[in-house]
Amino acid sequence: MSATADPRTYDLDALRGRALRRTGGTVDDSIPELARADADLLGLALVTIDGSVSSSAQADVGFSLQSAVKPFLFALALQDTDGAALDRVGIEPTGEAFDAIKLESGTGRPPNPMVNAGAILTASLVEGDDVAAREQRILAGLSAFAGRDLEVDEAIARNEHLLGDRNHALAHLMRSEGTLRVGADDAVAVYAHACAVVVDARDLAVMGATLAHGGRNPVTGAQVIGAAVARDVVSVMSTCGVYDGSGRWMRQVGVPAKSSVSGAIVLSAPGVLGAAVISPPLDERGTSVRGHFVSDALSADLGLHVFGRVG
Ligand code: GLN
Repeated sequence: MSATADPRTYDLDALRGRALRRTGGTVDDSIPELARADADLLGLALVTIDGSVSSSAQADVGFSLQSAVKPFLFALALQDTDGAALDRVGIEPTGEAFDAIKLESGTGRPPNPMVNAGAILTASLVEGDDVAAREQRILAGLSAFAGRDLEVDEAIARNEHLLGDRNHALAHLMRSEGTLRVGADDAVAVYAHACAVVVDARDLAVMGATLAHGGRNPVTGAQVIGAAVARDVVSVMSTCGVYDGSGRWMRQVGVPAKSSVSGAIVLSAPGVLGAAVISPPLDERGTSVRGHFVSDALSADLGLHVFGRVG
């Protein structure tokens, strides 16, 4: 296919068919609900910044956001603190796994908002006096990104909270450094709740497109966050969004993205489009195997690499 295919007429079901032939990867089993995911689920969606939405079969199947929520938590924290969140969380890649027990040396801040420590911290900075208020603000904010009222899978939220030992460890570590200023258990509860918000591939593509469109939802027209916030978020997705695979990802796919243990990937090509893919089997870095294949193909076929096209 030429490097200039039109995203509005691009055949996502044909790409889905090619991706289904890829095998490999393992479904996350950190909580029972994720372990039960359908390994053959594969949904794709694209949303251009002028509001054209296209999707494949299964783009309407729900899944929990998991780490794909992190860019949006960062966005809401930046928005609600008027940028002051940047004093409390770093923006440097770690070269380590998403749940590494490590803070920035010298400052005690989480290294960046795309790893667990950082997202626990950014979730704590979203406006709201208590757990319920912050959870409500996050759900409303995510719904504005998606352009419809989203819901939380309470069983997932409960189990993430209950079984997330490393997240509790990170929260306590940040408390001890003085960087986390709400209770450790409350912070993990809010983060777990955010990870358990249910979307489908279409929703997630609209969310990615909103970041790509300077914070304006291209479907509803609502300005969800400021343009400067959107640019900050996409910048950090580009350097940190795929954890210790971020360098390789940007060289190869070249589109800022966020991976997650549910097998979702959200992509945000600034000024062009947002895209999302869900396929649960993950590689050793926690990136969806088929999702990576789909991202590669979209980038090549639609000419999305932010540092230029070749061929
Ligand atoms: N809920 C997961 C956790 O905190 C999210 C991690 C991820 O998607 N990489 O363990």
